[in-house]
Amino acid sequence: MRQPLYCQGRDRAPSETQIGRHLSDFGRRYDLTIDRAAILSAPADAETPRDDIVYPSTIPFLLEHLACFAVFWTGATLRDWIICAALYVLRMFAVTAGHHRYFSHRTFRTSRVGQFLLAVCCQTSVQRGILWWAAKHRAHHKYSDTVLDVHSPRLRGFWYAHFGWIFAEREGQADYSLVADFARFPEIVWIDRQRYLPGILLGFAVWLYAGWSGVVVGFLLSTVLVQHCTFMINSLAHVRGSQRYVTGDDSRNNWLLALLTGGEGWHNNHHHYQTSTRQGFYWWEIDLTYYALRLLAICGLVWDLRSPPAEVVAGERPLGAPVVDKSARRLVASLPIESIARQIREAWNHTPSLADLRKLTATKWSDAHAILAKVSMPALPSLEELRARARELFAHTRCLDRIAERARELLVEAVSAHLLAEPLTA
Ligand SMILES: [Zn+2]
Ligand SMILES: [Zn+2]
Repeated sequence: MRQPLYCQGRDRAPSETQIGRHLSDFGRRYDLTIDRAAILSAPADAETPRDDIVYPSTIPFLLEHLACFAVFWTGATLRDWIICAALYVLRMFAVTAGHHRYFSHRTFRTSRVGQFLLAVCCQTSVQRGILWWAAKHRAHHKYSDTVLDVHSPRLRGFWYAHFGWIFAEREGQADYSLVADFARFPEIVWIDRQRYLPGILLGFAVWLYAGWSGVVVGFLLSTVLVQHCTFMINSLAHVRGSQRYVTGDDSRNNWLLALLTGGEGWHNNHHHYQTSTRQGFYWWEIDLTYYALRLLAICGLVWDLRSPPAEVVAGERPLGAPVVDKSARRLVASLPIESIARQIREAWNHTPSLADLRKLTATKWSDAHAILAKVSMPALPSLEELRARARELFAHTRCLDRIAERARELLVEAVSAHLLAEPLTA
């Protein structure tokens, strides 16, 4: 049987007080409806997302940035700038093709030697171990833009999503069970543990070749640029851009980010269909990483590159149940639940339903909710109204009816929670 998350590394479930605090905090700050299942299975300390940043661990990151200003002392030659551009392009490719499309999503295949060399290239970008990165990214897709997402601008603010989360104490570790498919290779586990060794060796090689100005401009500056362009996919690509597909989260397509990152800016496409090597779904959606992988495939170094089926590109494939559920929660979160509950309570105060409701408040919450679902609540938006709201909020989808129906269920649940939480007046 699957263990709830709070059992991993902790031996106790969140207390009622913690859950209560979490529920009110969650609703107040993020204006989302209550997802009791997700909250009950969350780590016990999830209610303090920003408080466990280990500030000393940010020092090397800060120094790396400050060191770039040493260019005013070392100066820079044309050769240093060429190294900077080359290392940016090569390592951005390593991040997009390696970290993301290979180790996180297995969108193509390569040999075992090719896989190891790719992992080494990935780690020259100084973004911790390859398994840590892939595990965190798989968790992002599993929970994207919910309270369990490690980096959601919607829930924790832009800068926390950009890089603050990296320094949170609990993010230092990853759930390696999410990357069991790669953790079975001892050489991959070994390189994952040598987090910064490939980066340090690359910096040393640049120093031998181009001296200190080469290190500052060629190595450090390109490292910082690669890091921030990678981070922007977690932050900006969930905030700015367009949404072609309903994905239940905030992922967006952003052409500028796509150009800067070699195709990663087609992030809404990617959240829609994660197993595709190609992230630019149309010819005008430039995806340099995919073009480079096509060249490597011609050379026989990688194979089995995947493209999205035509019905996926056209948005014709039915949405999965989790996406329908997440979208329905978004829809319900946009409604004035308290005001709807108040109207129902006022209407019932003058009808015979009042006595029944009083009895319901004494029963178990789940029983009461089941009964309330069958009771007429005239103030609730109709299915047609919910459908119209969904049309306003989301991209075109043929699953609008399913989203509206699920939203209706969730709405009854949310309103019932309000009705039962407060005492009735005669
Ligand atoms: Zn991804
Ligand atoms: Zn994302």
